[in-house]
Amino acid sequence: MVKAIRIHEQGGPEKLVWEDVEVGAPGDGEIRVKHHAVGLNYIDTYQRSGLYPLAKLPAVMGMEGAGEVVAVGSGVSEFKEGDRIAYANPMGSYSEERNMIADRAVKLTDGVSYDTAAAMMLQGMTVRYLLRETYKVGPETTLLFHAAAGGVGLIACQWAKHLGATIIGTAGSDEKVAMAKEAGATHGINYNTENFVDRVKEITGGNGVDVVYDSIGQDTYPASLDCLKPLGLFVTFGNASGPIKNFDVGGLGGKGSLYVTRPTLFTYTAKREDLVANAAELFEVVESGAVKIKVNQTYPLVEAAQAHRDLESRVTTGSTIFKP
Ligand code: NDP
Repeated sequence: MVKAIRIHEQGGPEKLVWEDVEVGAPGDGEIRVKHHAVGLNYIDTYQRSGLYPLAKLPAVMGMEGAGEVVAVGSGVSEFKEGDRIAYANPMGSYSEERNMIADRAVKLTDGVSYDTAAAMMLQGMTVRYLLRETYKVGPETTLLFHAAAGGVGLIACQWAKHLGATIIGTAGSDEKVAMAKEAGATHGINYNTENFVDRVKEITGGNGVDVVYDSIGQDTYPASLDCLKPLGLFVTFGNASGPIKNFDVGGLGGKGSLYVTRPTLFTYTAKREDLVANAAELFEVVESGAVKIKVNQTYPLVEAAQAHRDLESRVTTGSTIFKP
């Protein structure tokens, strides 16, 4: 038996319960992992609340973890006991130990600690595909990134700066805007006190940006579209304020023949070789110092409910980890 945070039904943070779960020996193709650090991500709140339905309950929460391999199932050749690994999928990371399919784990390089890995695997690989694949960001790019002081946001500001882009970052307070600028945002907007469409127009001399990265959802729709140049790309990749319910495809025409995509990390890392390449590029920018992972909150895993409340009430900045 190990301790884990599980839910028996979806709902509020009070549904997260710390209890004994059976792990057993790893099955075919699986490894058993002892977690040293576990990541908190916004998707955890969607899976807890029911915004994202779960196929099976009860379920151990959490997508992201880092730890050591303590047992290896049959048919696993890539990993051995004692290997330091991390992952951003599948669910089940809010636990002291777990079994998981080996195909989803990557080995940590010496320069990446367990805490850093647990803080960055999901958010950092997300930033990588958003900036390097969904839209190929470079020195010519002007982009708008919402929630720029969050976990994904602070990594995005640094990585986009590393790529030479002009970055407009939004956040919900002046302190958060200052953090985003410190991390690399060229311009900052407090979207609670300023009209971000007007400010983007002003900053870009009326042109608009090439790409908007929007993880807020309903609250910033459709205003985010009004920040784009003709033929610009709207990347809607999250629902922190709730999912967009009234998306008007026809309206994209009048706003300049805009493009829209709703990407997820899981598509971009579905093949093992893509996962490994994505993680390798993340490790490279972190080990070179171009991107620093800001672990701004650490909670004991048993306090997962409080961490969810803090994340959902916009109290956190940067990345958050749990210690099992
Ligand atoms: P964050 O640390 O960014 O936390 C969310 C932030 O969103 C808050 O801090 C807050 O910042 C802002 N926000 C705006 N409106 C609200 C609201 N109504 N309620 C709560 N927060 C709000 O979280 P993550 O870094 O973990 O994730 C960021 C986003 O990226 C999430 O939407 C997540 O789902 C998405 N995501 C998508 C992935 C994908 O592949 N599609 C993968 C990873 C993350 P402020 O106070 O500054 O407004």
